[in-house]
Amino acid sequence: RRALGSLGKSRAKFISAEESTGITFDDFAGQEYIKRELQEIVRILKDDEEFQDKGIYCPKGVLLHGPPGTGKTLLAKAIAGEAGLPFFAANGTDFVEDLFASARSYAPSIIFIDEIDAIGSKRGGPDIGGGGAEREQGLLQILTEMDGFKVSTSQVLVIGATNRLDILDPALLRKGRFDKIIRVGLPSKDGRLAILKVHARNKYFRSEEEKDVLLQEIAELTEDFTGAELQNILNEAGILTARKDLDFIGRDELLEALKRQKGTFETGQEDNTEIPEDLKLRLAYREAAVAVLACYFPNPYRPFTQTDIKSIRSQPNMCYNDIPGKVFARKSDYVNSIVRACAPRVIEEEMFGVDNLCWISSKATLEASRLAEFLILQTGMTAFGKAFYRNQSDLVPNLAAKLEALRDEYMRYAVDKCSSVLREYHLAAETITDVLLEKGEIGAEEIWDIYKTTARIPQPAVSP
Ligand code: ADP
Repeated sequence: RRALGSLGKSRAKFISAEESTGITFDDFAGQEYIKRELQEIVRILKDDEEFQDKGIYCPKGVLLHGPPGTGKTLLAKAIAGEAGLPFFAANGTDFVEDLFASARSYAPSIIFIDEIDAIGSKRGGPDIGGGGAEREQGLLQILTEMDGFKVSTSQVLVIGATNRLDILDPALLRKGRFDKIIRVGLPSKDGRLAILKVHARNKYFRSEEEKDVLLQEIAELTEDFTGAELQNILNEAGILTARKDLDFIGRDELLEALKRQKGTFETGQEDNTEIPEDLKLRLAYREAAVAVLACYFPNPYRPFTQTDIKSIRSQPNMCYNDIPGKVFARKSDYVNSIVRACAPRVIEEEMFGVDNLCWISSKATLEASRLAEFLILQTGMTAFGKAFYRNQSDLVPNLAAKLEALRDEYMRYAVDKCSSVLREYHLAAETITDVLLEKGEIGAEEIWDIYKTTARIPQPAVSP
């Protein structure tokens, strides 16, 4: 990669420029439909005269949104790499003018603005930390720049990235600005395998067969992992292999690396490290809340069997007995599952305070919002309508906004319902917590006993 020489020193500090990124679509794995859509843009960028004859123009702006580490920057670089265009990147609000000036002098070229929400958040909307005036200034600059250049040959394609589509100023999403919106989500299991394979390309395994088996296993163990985290696992495994003076990455190294990636606290059951007392208390409350909600909204197809506080993971330890056979889920079943999923987060906030949340409930909101999205997009059971959407990238901007709004509505309902259930059954939750702290585990029968006998005992009146 060669940096472009002509940028002044002061600019170069804030704007990174590459004549060629050297990244291609082969470097991004999973979510093939994203690549298909972007490939089209690359084709237009490369051969715009032919397309213009047909009246087809490249969009001015592409907005990639999704959680951090899912490959948005990688995709932006791949577009530049595939189209053979120079790449100018900036992070956030500063130097928008310089950024556009540099990119224009090298046009056709690609501009990448990471965390564009830092500039383009809703005016007058909920504030996310100071700098309102500057942000406004940055936003206006982008709008002026984007409206200023004509859709024509030697154009500049602006790619923005954000993980907060909800706070983005709608002005940015209007036609002629970021009119292509693409959701980059967490990879599926197949996606994870494909990503692992990309990052295993330059690593040594005993054989291709063994590599496939091992990566398949890691893909299964890494639900909710991002591409960046998967890459880290392989890198870490490589380092461990070298440290042990081995020639090939093996299962032990991969599992060890996976454990490290899951976090220093996230130890497996086979690990004998003592769990700190304060974490045990949090875990016990979390499992108790999950148990209470599982009693309140029982899932007939998936009865729970037992739970414990012997291992720390970012998802509940509750075990279930999946009953084979046909499932006829009704809308209320979907909604209840969203409510259940909120339990770890709601109880932790209630017991330890919103500023004291820790990672053991961090996956709960993610899971709940994913369930809500599924209900809205794929069942046709909500006000969103009956159309079938494969994923968010099928949505045009105003539908995307409608989805976010409806999802937020379900989330608000779920959180409220979950906390009212936990208040009503707080005694059951406390009792289950005590049992867990004392014995380390609790079975379904005892949970049901406690739930039924302590049910609906009103909370003691709070003295003024
Ligand atoms: P984001 O911009 O969404 O925060 P990045 O593009 O910076 O994420 O991702 C960081 C790194 O993680 C990438 O450089 C790449 O090595 C790896 N990565 C993330 N997603 C993928 C993917 N889908 N396929 C291959 N590698 C990925």
